[in-house]
Amino acid sequence: MLNKEFKYPDTAAYDFVVQRLKEKGITIEDIAKISFQMQSEFLPNLSMDEVREDTVSVLHKREVLNNAMVGLELDRLATENQLSEPLESIIKNDAGVFGVDEGIALDIANIYGTIGVTNYGFIDREKTGIIKKLDESKKGDNQSNTFIDDIVGALASAVAAKIAHRNS
Ligand code: MG
Repeated sequence: MLNKEFKYPDTAAYDFVVQRLKEKGITIEDIAKISFQMQSEFLPNLSMDEVREDTVSVLHKREVLNNAMVGLELDRLATENQLSEPLESIIKNDAGVFGVDEGIALDIANIYGTIGVTNYGFIDREKTGIIKKLDESKKGDNQSNTFIDDIVGALASAVAAKIAHRNS
């Protein structure tokens, strides 16, 4: 079934991720704001325009999109009770020992090296901004947000790492 003519659908992947985030109330601006918060402490001249540009650029990387698509799709499938057991219950209940959500997030955070991973660890503990909202909304409705909070944190961390590298 392998098609040698297959062309990687980069634009479709980007649209998929941006649209899925939007459906959960998360914009590129929200992600940029977290990254700005993380880096402005070290770079007083950092502008939001610059961070916004970096966010869009990170969101165009294939490794980022691939990991984000898988995680976001698993959240959708879990929300719609489409997964087989025991995976459905594990993801729906955001079981602490599952860890695949963090694995996917670390893969994203790592694209600019260890600074991204360190940032992700920090964000995961602090749960700043929109991530806190996502984390809290888990308890309320019947939506699975198991992957999305980690993905958003990882995206913001990767952007922060990209900025740190450029300015070092
Ligand atoms: Mg999670």
